[in-house]
Amino acid sequence: MGKRKNQQQETMNKLLIATNNKGKVLEFQELLKNTGIEFITPAQISLNLDVEEDGSTYQENAGKKAIAFAQASGLISLADDSGLEVNALGGAPGLYSARYSPKPGATDSDRRAFLLENLKDKPRPWTAHFHATIAVAQPNGMIEFVEGNCHGEIIPEERGTGGFGYDAIFFMPELGKTMAELDMDEKNRLSHRARAVLAAMPILKQIFSI
Ligand code: IMP
Repeated sequence: MGKRKNQQQETMNKLLIATNNKGKVLEFQELLKNTGIEFITPAQISLNLDVEEDGSTYQENAGKKAIAFAQASGLISLADDSGLEVNALGGAPGLYSARYSPKPGATDSDRRAFLLENLKDKPRPWTAHFHATIAVAQPNGMIEFVEGNCHGEIIPEERGTGGFGYDAIFFMPELGKTMAELDMDEKNRLSHRARAVLAAMPILKQIFSI
């Protein structure tokens, strides 16, 4: 009983990162470093929750995830919903970025290949941006949203081995590099998620009184 109470006290003032995506967890870990906000992952509290992302906006999906994790854990929870929007494809894959391939069991590499296949007859440059909406939810149902974007273009050949998802074909002309060629510090200064986390800081500081 005493041990359980201690565990509860230990986690109570921590922010739960409501994602099972290892790439995102690593990024959030870096982004929240030195902010005074301690966070934990669902795995660390053995919380196994798979929330269906069936909303019609990033905000709906991020909100649904943040609320589900906050209510299941009793902790303040942060969730993001993100995607890649390519202008020549009318904003696709957008909300469907994580599922953008007809192949069953498709990997990130299959999704990059499918995107390039769909773009091959379109005139370049294939301008695009990553978008992230972050939701911060409290167990009492209070929820707030912020956003971030990062602009660049899709290139037809993969470059770099860092990051995840579409990073290897997302080129940032002002840096002359793809997102997969950035080190973690660079990505975390410039990415859509970094910008959204920066926008979320005043909300988090107020909630955690720091
Ligand atoms: P969700 O936010 O978990 O729905 O996933 C969004 C999808 O968008 C990811 O699975 C990736 O395919 C893509 N995506 C989101 N952020 C990034 C990023 O920083 N780099 C590369 N791909 C990303």
